[in-house]
Order: sequence, then C-alpha cells, then structure tokens
Amino acid sequence: MADRDAVSYDPQGVERKWQQRWEERGTNHADLAGASHPFYNLMMFPYPSAEGLHVGNVFAFVGADIQGRFRRLRGADVFEPLGFDAFGIHSENFALKVGTHPAELIPRNIERFRSQLKRIGLMADWRYEVQTTDPRYYKWTQWIFLQLYRAGLAVKRRAAVNWCPACKTVLANEQVINGFCERHPDVKVEQRMLDQWFFTISGYAQRLLDHLETADWSHSTRTIQANWIGRSDGAELVFETPAGKRITVFTTRPDTVFGATYLVLAPEHPLVESLTTAERRSDVNAYRRRVAAMDLVSRKVGEKTKTGEFTGSYARNPANGDSVPIWIADYVLMEYGTGAIMAVPGHDERDFEFATAMKLPVVRVVAGPGQDAATPLPAAEPDVPDGRLVNSPGYDDVPWQEAKRAITAALAAKGLGKPVVNYRLHDWCISRQRYWGPPIPIIYCDACGTVPVPEQDLPVVLPALEDFRPDDSGVSPLARLESWYRVPCPKCGKTARRETDVSDTFLDSAWYFLRYPSADRDDVAFDAGLTRKWLPVSSYIGGNEHAVLHLMYSRFVTMALHDLGLVGFEEPFARFRAHGTIVKDGAKMSKSRGNVVNPDAYVERWGADTFRMYLMFLGPYQDGGDFRDAGISGIRRFLDKVWGLVETHGGADARAHGRAGASADLVRMMHRTIQRVTEDTESLAYNTAIAAMMEYVNALRDGEPAIALVEPLAILLAPYAPHFAEECWERLGHSTSVMDAPWPSFDPALAVAEEVELVVQVNGKVRARLRSARGTPQEAAVQAALADPSVVKFTAGAPPKKVVFVPDRLVNIVV
Ligand SMILES: [Zn+2]
Ligand SMILES: [Zn+2]
Repeated sequence: MADRDAVSYDPQGVERKWQQRWEERGTNHADLAGASHPFYNLMMFPYPSAEGLHVGNVFAFVGADIQGRFRRLRGADVFEPLGFDAFGIHSENFALKVGTHPAELIPRNIERFRSQLKRIGLMADWRYEVQTTDPRYYKWTQWIFLQLYRAGLAVKRRAAVNWCPACKTVLANEQVINGFCERHPDVKVEQRMLDQWFFTISGYAQRLLDHLETADWSHSTRTIQANWIGRSDGAELVFETPAGKRITVFTTRPDTVFGATYLVLAPEHPLVESLTTAERRSDVNAYRRRVAAMDLVSRKVGEKTKTGEFTGSYARNPANGDSVPIWIADYVLMEYGTGAIMAVPGHDERDFEFATAMKLPVVRVVAGPGQDAATPLPAAEPDVPDGRLVNSPGYDDVPWQEAKRAITAALAAKGLGKPVVNYRLHDWCISRQRYWGPPIPIIYCDACGTVPVPEQDLPVVLPALEDFRPDDSGVSPLARLESWYRVPCPKCGKTARRETDVSDTFLDSAWYFLRYPSADRDDVAFDAGLTRKWLPVSSYIGGNEHAVLHLMYSRFVTMALHDLGLVGFEEPFARFRAHGTIVKDGAKMSKSRGNVVNPDAYVERWGADTFRMYLMFLGPYQDGGDFRDAGISGIRRFLDKVWGLVETHGGADARAHGRAGASADLVRMMHRTIQRVTEDTESLAYNTAIAAMMEYVNALRDGEPAIALVEPLAILLAPYAPHFAEECWERLGHSTSVMDAPWPSFDPALAVAEEVELVVQVNGKVRARLRSARGTPQEAAVQAALADPSVVKFTAGAPPKKVVFVPDRLVNIVV
C-alpha cells in the first residue's frame, strides 16, 4: 500500500449491522436463572428529559458498559439492565413549561432515550427495562411504602419544611443549596408548617455510618456520606432555674461549660412561655411573632446581625453554680439538639457575635500554648490547638479532650448531664404536594384513622388530571379530584379520603435495582431466588451528585427491607465507583454558555465506537476530562489503523503464517499490552488502557505483524469499541460474537520489558554492568549507575562533572 492511512472503514454500516445482529441473536441477553457466575452491572438509570441524552449520560454509561463487557469477556455472566426514572418534578416542570401533559410527554422522551442508548452500543438487556411511571412498577413502590409503614418507619407529622415558592412544593434539605432552591438558584426557600410523611432514616444513622468504613466505594463518596450523616459526640447538660425548671442543652463541647455565660432558647421552645417575666413579655412576644414569619433557611444560614430578647429569667450553670441569663434568639432552631444552647462566647463565633451585640460577658476557658487565663479574646477561638482548660476550677490545666469526658461524667453523677451522640442526618420527608408521582397508599377515615391501602388493592393509580398545576395552597393537585379521593374505608366501609400527596421521586429510585431482575414479574416486587442470586449489585457506577440523596436512600431502604426479612443483605451495592465529569473547553457545559455537546451529532459524524473511545480517552474515568473537538479524529485514525492491520493480516495466508513470523520484541509487547489493558480496564483507568493499545498498534505497523498478534487486539477493543471489534473479529475468520471470546491471557515473564546490558564507565574505565529495561531514559539510567556500589567506589559519591549516555548500551561518568 502506498498510503497506509488511506484504509478507512464505514462506522455507520458496521454499527447498524452489529446492532441488528445483537438483537437477532440475543447477544446482550443474560440468563438470569441459569447463570453460574452472576455479575450485576448497574448504572444510574436516567431521567428521560426532553432534551435527550446528555453527553454526561453517555460518558457515565459507556464507562459502566466497558466494565460490564470486560467482566463478561473475563468469564462472568453479566446482567446490564437499563430503565427510566421518569416521575418527578423535572418532568412535571418541563411539561408545564411546554404545555404538554407529562403522561403524553414522558413516553415520547423515553422512546427517544431508548433509541439513543441503543445507538451508543450498550450491552443492555432491554427485556428487563423498568419505567418508574409504569403502574406495574409503582405498584411496588407503593408496596415498599406499606412495608416501611408497617415497620413503623413511615410516620406522619406536622413539621416545618422547606418550601420553594417557585416549585410550589416541599424540598428535602439536600435540595436546598445555601438557602436557595437547587432548581431555582434565584429563589429563596421558605419555611412552612405542613403535615408530611417521613421515613425515619435518622434511626439508621449509626449503621449507615458504620458500614461506610468497610464499603468498597469511592473514597470521595464515602466521605460525602459520612459528612452528611454528621455524627457529633457531645453531652446534654441541665441548667436549673430557681423555680426548679430544668433546661436541657446539647453541646459538643461540655469542656467549655465554665465559659457558658448565658443560655439561648429557640423562640418556639415550649419553656419560653413560662420563663418570660411580666415586664419582658411584650418584647418577647413581639420577637416570637417576627421569627415565626421568617423562613427556616435564612435562620439556618444565619444573618450577620444577631437579634434576640432576654426572657427576664436566670438559670444555674451546673459546673460553677453561676446565675446566667436566659435569652431567646432566632439562630437557635427547635429541630436541632434540644432547641436550647449554652452560649460560650469565648469559643463559639455565633455566640461571640451575639454576646458582643447584647453586651454579655465573654470568658476564656481554653488556652493554647503561650496563652493563659487572662489572655484577651478579641474574637471567638473555637479551636485552640493543644488547648488546656483555664478559669475552670477543678479542671485547670487539663487538656480539653480529657476535660470533655471528665466534666460530662462529673455532671452525670450529679444528675445534671449525660453523654449524647447527635447526627446531622434528618428524617426523609417523602410527601410531595405535586401531581407527577405515585400516590401515597394511605386512606384517612373519621372512624378508623389512618388506614393503609390493602396490598391487593395496589396500585393506587395516578388519575388522569387535565389541570395538574401545583398552587400555593400547599395541597396536592389531586385534592381537586373528589371523584378520585373519596373512597370507602377499607376497614369500616364508611366514606373516607385518600392521601392526596404523591411520594418523592427519590423513593422510586431507592429500590429500582431490586426490581430489574424481576421486571417481568407482576406477582412480586422482587423474586426471592433471583434476588439472592444477583444482589447485592456487583458494580455500580454513577455520579457523586447522588451521594447524599439516591445512594443514602437506597442504602436505608435496603436496610429496612433486610430488617423486615425481605432481603438477605443490608447493603445494596457491593462496589460503587463515582465517575468524573466532562467539561467543554475548560468550562462546565450549560445551555446558557451554549457549549453543550449533543452526542447525536458526534455519533452521526464519527460513529458510536469512535465517540465512546474518545470520551474515555479524555482523562481518568473517575476524574473526567475536557471535551475538545480537535482530539476525536485521533481516535478515528487509530481505529482505521487497526482496520488496516485486520485487512492486511486477516486473510488465510496470514493465518497459516501464525506466530512463527512474529518478532520476539512484538510478542513481548503483545503480552505487555494485554497486561496493561487488563489491569487498567479493571481499575477503570480507561484512558491509559487506550493509550497502551495505541502504542501497540503503532509498533505492529512498524514491525512485521502476524495474525496471532492482531487477533487479541480485537478482543481488547471489544469493551471500548464493541461494533468495530465484532466486525474485526468476523473478518479474522470467526463466526461467533467477539463477546463470547475469552479475554486473552498474558505471560507475566514476557510482559516485563526486555532487559539489556548497560555498561557503566567511570572516567572511561568499565566499572559495572547493569541489567536495565530496554528504553530506560538517561536520568533513570544514570541514577541507577551512580547508586551501584562498584561505581560509588570510584566516584566517592561526588556528583558527575559530565555524563555520556548511549541508550540501552552505555553510561560514562566523568568525575
Ligand atoms: Zn424551586
Ligand atoms: Zn373506617
């Protein structure tokens, strides 16, 4: 061939052909009942937006698909299901925007997503697709709710909740970002009191935390979860009033109790009424009214200017007996701790600001090296490294950590305290005053109270509702449909009322991995035998943006089902890896920047295989990378080179030639390439696996390759460029799918780089002969030479004046 690069293949034709074959032959089907080495390869199912598949989705799915295909080639029976997370506020808000009913819009979006997902060549077994909006699915979402309800884990209570005035719905704490709605970055979230259904996940906080320690999960994800659970070890201390009222405070720093110069209660605290003296009453009441009108979030964020009112009462500091004033202030919240704090302005910033504003005493009780009891406190010093107690009679000079335990124990002995562990994790509010979700399966009867819908009556089908817009009332749109919510009570038969809230979309996704293997079954949520066989999920890949919502809720639901005896494991995902994100030309992709990469256009132009490989080549999969158009043609050239090798060496002549004609260097390189691709693919280092294949292909083109050297390449490429690999495999004379070929093995002895003898001279005289890997660069070779004992004898450790280096042959050191 005059121009070797002229060889080019037709990706569209090849990909069409193989996608059709896979369907005809059921290549991607898993034998769920018969599998002997089950490997459940899960990826986070997409929300089918109207925009279609995002390049971020493709990046995530391709990386997970490579893992699935790799495991299959290594001998596992891989189940790779996909589905659609189609309920929820995103779909509903979009439907409102374009004026189309979600019941019409969502099936269209799913249709489009499915064809896009098929087009990128995932090994998905579409026979087990799930759609959360399908009554066949959400029947079981409602069933899960009922199981948790029976276990006492679903409770209804009136609570202050985050309310987005733009979404017109309740938000989970996780959906409030610095006081603003995650979907509406300009809209401040408000506080509302509503009756809500909660899952009491907080009771699982310690278990959720403990399991993280041994989980085979990305370190980053484990850290995010641990921080979100937010365990803090502290104490509850009791401050008594002269009238004998006991005010309990939670503190993480009981060692600072001698510095507690006043108490602050949340304005809603039940004791405020009785603590307020007659002369302070009108000011206190006015303040309480003002705070009641405020939103929860700005109270949490904390205004810089501190406000509050003195109740007129005092309580006794349990440590030193001092009388301390009792205040109320909006920065103390009823839902945290006990709704009351001991204020230690010397060592807490908010308390310091408050004390400064209200002219309350500030006392130092912890001093670091070089400080003493009299060292002034121009600002709060919350963390004093190597701090010891001062101004704390009986504990002076004790390190604060030790004092923390000792003081808690001493106060506990007097009945004025106890050690307490607190968690940041709060119960999961699952009520949504919206339309597009599964109705919560509860009926309210005047005679019987709260009655769960009997299981045989599931699903409670979401009724067709023309006007599904939410409003400001805080009541679900379903409450407008009397013909739907008026039902006979399942217990007494009298007219009763359905719950009109729907459940949070995160409940839909908190159990979908249990459903996949049983997606074809209508008699059970999940088959016991298949669940035992296929779960926990072997490998789960997804984004860290779901670390505190989806992943936490899935773990909780699984633990709850385990405790109910419904599944045999506590943790749903044996291995979780967070993938990175793709940016475009250094910037986050967004519609407003106009830099969103439309995967369709790239697949159309370059083919799915090139696009897949290009995305994986952008950077380490777990870090992500920068999408730049310029790089994609390099991948295409690489595939064309492989194509050329297959064309040239795939014929019968070449086959007869066998490995006999292969040079020893190329054989070594083949073993090394197989080793690198195997290890890198296993550890999700896809970019370096691709780089190894590129180096190998260049070497094959420079050398005299034989079919035995080209054939393994088709298999190594199969996870990355599956259609292309199938076509190469067929052209190399095989009639079965490359996915049924065994992954090539390597000989570790051959895989190590070839060694050469490196002669080391000092001042021109041979002093040593070193074994060194072929191609060792000058710096490494000189370093090895200088470290050799017989060389050191002649250089005496002095740095060389000059070095002469002949690659793979000679190092001459002049001293
Ligand atoms: Zn909002
Ligand atoms: Zn009844």
